[in-house]
Amino acid sequence: MRKKIVAGNWKMNTLPAEGVELAKGVAAGKGEVCDCVNFIVCPPFTHLASVVETLKGSNIAVGAQDCATETKGAYTGEVSAQMIAALGCEYVILGHSERRQYYGETSETLNKKMARAYENNLTPIYCVGENLEEREAGRHFDVCKQQLEEVVFNLTEEQFAKLVIAYEPVWAIGTGKTATADQAEEIHAYIREVLRSKFGAAAEECPILYGGSCKPSNAGEIFSKENVDGGLIGGAALKAEDFLGIGKAF
Ligand code: PEP
Repeated sequence: MRKKIVAGNWKMNTLPAEGVELAKGVAAGKGEVCDCVNFIVCPPFTHLASVVETLKGSNIAVGAQDCATETKGAYTGEVSAQMIAALGCEYVILGHSERRQYYGETSETLNKKMARAYENNLTPIYCVGENLEEREAGRHFDVCKQQLEEVVFNLTEEQFAKLVIAYEPVWAIGTGKTATADQAEEIHAYIREVLRSKFGAAAEECPILYGGSCKPSNAGEIFSKENVDGGLIGGAALKAEDFLGIGKAF
C-alpha cells in the first residue's frame, strides 16, 4: 500500500502569526480525516520553527519549499538543508515549476539540492510537469521523463525509497484549470513506468501526488485514480477547511 499524502505549499503567503493559526486549524480538524492520510504543510522559511512547534504531537509533518545547493558558508540569503532539518522539518519541496521558471532552477542545481536534502534526512517532494505549450505539442510525456532522468535517476535505490514525486502541470497551477482525472492518471501511470524502468518494483511504493488547482470539489475524482496518491496543494492549502476537505476526499 502506497502512502497517501496531502501536502500544502503555502508559497509566499501568510505572516508568521497567520501561519501558526492556519496550522492550528489544520491540526484541530485532522481528527475528521482518515488516519490513512499523511498531512504535510510547507510554510515560508520565516515560520518553519513556529509551525513545527505548533504541530508537535499532531502527526502533521512540516516541510520547506526549497533549500540551498551548498552545505554552508558565504551564500547570502540562502537557507541550508541542515538548517531546515535542525528545526524539525521532515520534507523539502524541490523543483517546483515556479522555482524553475522564475529562479532559474535547473537539473544541475536540483541534483545538488537533492543531495543536500538526503544528507540531512529530509524527504524531497520532487516536482515535475509540463507547461501549456509543451502539453499542446503533445510533449508532456517527454518533458516529465527528462525531468526524472536528469535528477531522480541519479538517486541510489536507498534514496529513491524515500522520495515523493509531485506531477504538476504548469498550466493548471493557480489557474483554476485542473487536469481531468483521466489526464492525471495517464501521466501518473507513465511517470511510474519511467520510474520502474530504473528502479524496478520499488516504483510501486513511490507516492506520486497531483498538483494544480486541486480543491475539495475535484480531489475525490482525481484521488480515486490508481496512480494518484494524493496532492500537492497551493491555493486551497491556505484555508484549513479546504485543505482538510481535500484530505477527506480519500
Ligand atoms: C502548486 O503550486 O504547488 C499548486 C498546486 O498550486 P495551486 O493548487 O494553487 O494550483
